[in-house]
Amino acid sequence: MSSSSITLPVKKSSVIHKSSNPIASAQGFSALGLSEQIVRAVVDRGYTNPTPIQSQAIPVVLSGRDLLAGAQTGTGKTAGFTLPILHLLSHKVVKRSATGKIPIRALILTPTRELAAQVEESVQTYGKHLPLTSMVIYGGVNINPQINRLRGGVEILVATPGRLLDHVQQGRLDLSQVEILVLDEADRMLDMGFIRDIKRILSLLPKQRQNLLFSATFSNEIKALASTLLNQPVIVEVASQNATADLVTQRVFPVDRDRKRELLTHLIKTHNWYQVLVFTRTKHGADRLVKQLHQDDIVAMAIHGNKSQAARTRALGKFKDGSLQVLVATDIAARGLDISELPHVVNYELPNVPEDYVHRIGRTGRAGLSGEAISLVCLDERKFLSDIEKLIKRSLPQEIITGFETDPLIKPEPIQLGQRQKQQPRRGGHGDRNPIAKLSNLSEDSKSPAKPQRNQSGKSTSKSVVQPKRSEHRDSHHNRNR
Ligand code: AMP
Repeated sequence: MSSSSITLPVKKSSVIHKSSNPIASAQGFSALGLSEQIVRAVVDRGYTNPTPIQSQAIPVVLSGRDLLAGAQTGTGKTAGFTLPILHLLSHKVVKRSATGKIPIRALILTPTRELAAQVEESVQTYGKHLPLTSMVIYGGVNINPQINRLRGGVEILVATPGRLLDHVQQGRLDLSQVEILVLDEADRMLDMGFIRDIKRILSLLPKQRQNLLFSATFSNEIKALASTLLNQPVIVEVASQNATADLVTQRVFPVDRDRKRELLTHLIKTHNWYQVLVFTRTKHGADRLVKQLHQDDIVAMAIHGNKSQAARTRALGKFKDGSLQVLVATDIAARGLDISELPHVVNYELPNVPEDYVHRIGRTGRAGLSGEAISLVCLDERKFLSDIEKLIKRSLPQEIITGFETDPLIKPEPIQLGQRQKQQPRRGGHGDRNPIAKLSNLSEDSKSPAKPQRNQSGKSTSKSVVQPKRSEHRDSHHNRNR
């Protein structure tokens, strides 16, 4: 491992590839040097050409070099690291322990449970013609089945940091044979306060290993992490930061604050929309909207941090298989969700952190498909809208829906933000995007004052952002807040 510092985007020892044209870099997967079994699995999955991140990252990973990749969800980044890892591991002889147990050879860390589950599903899909073993571990579910499964030995482990450390603490995980480490959505892991856990996990890994860091953004924090983690990395970057997907049609429908729900129902029913992902700013708002949609005979479920893992998985499963028409989500709960070919994203409430808008609409128009992102904007949200337009460097077309013309007599009202939302800067001097600003999103109850937090001495405080202690509840704590 190297401790040399990294200056982005140019570093002498690094090679930078940039591309925004999927066609230009499209070649067959076999041309990238992947084995026949892997190419067959990819073809079975229905992919014909690698995406830009795949064209660029796969040869680098196959060469054994460290990688710093700037890529958002939706670019095909998961296959970008999964395919070459499967190739490398299947071409090397496994060193079994004295007891004959297979060691953990690749460790993939993700910020959220949903993303961990999705990544492991990809490992299984692409590795289906290979004899490699994989599993996923995350918190919020019974630990015992995970313990039993780990006993048998697993080569590729996908995990969220909190539950991984729980297993380590209980002496059930040996990470000393890890050959490849992946930090997926590293910027989100930092946003979510996982830095201490990550450092702890790094200290358990062997020094000699290959490191792959994927991040949507290169903030100063990511650069700092990259410089301690990566050894002369190749840097690849496929989408400019904060760029909204070109294939997403974005529209704003101005509407009075009290008529948003009516407009949403109108849009869903008149256009017969299916698979609509709707965003609210708060957990409470998500639950309330679900109830209201039920009254309008629209099948909807909410996904947010107050829902049990089982409820979240159930809602996501129904949404993915098409049996759930509307999924209402809060920002952080929706992170990393990969729902293929999602046609509609609706911002029922605009986010107060403009970068979240980019993440939200990134749920549609994925992997080359077109999509539609609609924002229902009331007078109170004008400032949020102008912040978003500033960030994405374009103004969004506005369209009044007949029958929903705004009432000129209505006066704007301030949107009550939670204590922590008010305290955190929205944008700041930490690179193009400020992960600190994202902490402001931890309090979703923007209509009510921030809930008191327990500090480490057990005293209640509503002032500071309390970094939760890592424990069995760590994962659930994070997810409860989102
Ligand atoms: P990701 O960025 O890894 O979350 O992937 C986003 C979506 O793109 C997922 O639904 C993948 O199944 C899909 N995908 C990944 N690679 C390709 C490819 N080469 N061609 C078409 N779709 C892909």
